[in-house]
Amino acid sequence: MSALSYLTKCGFCAQTFTQGPPLIGEEAPARAQRMINGLLKHLKTLHPEEWQKVEAQGKAASAFRAICNFDFQDPWMQNFRDQMRHVFFVSLQRFQIDDAHIAKMVAKLELPPEYEERVINSHQALRNVLQEIAPPAAEPAQDSAGAVQ
Ligand SMILES: [Zn+2]
Repeated sequence: MSALSYLTKCGFCAQTFTQGPPLIGEEAPARAQRMINGLLKHLKTLHPEEWQKVEAQGKAASAFRAICNFDFQDPWMQNFRDQMRHVFFVSLQRFQIDDAHIAKMVAKLELPPEYEERVINSHQALRNVLQEIAPPAAEPAQDSAGAVQ
């Protein structure tokens, strides 16, 4: 299948696009940029409300990237920054791992019942950190002898 036969379909009006033949001497990145420019024009022209959302998300992404250059003592700002990170992270994820999926995968391990809940909780905690749902749990404090306090 050549790039000429790949179809791109608009998610709002079902119009389809092809990249068209490459221009003489045109490399793949330039051809991709030409395609993207056409899609942007389509969105701006035929779906202005969606285009406004794209622009607003772009401004929010810029603001988020800007505030990542600062260390905040204000817990509200720390939380705000973390919530923005979570929103962007989720919007970029192709797949979401929900609790039911984790339980199903752990059940396939056929663990003794006394371990199953602990493994599920561990996987959920790891998922939460990796998907920016929650920060890593703090390690319990230990005294100099290594006893957990
Ligand atoms: Zn469209």
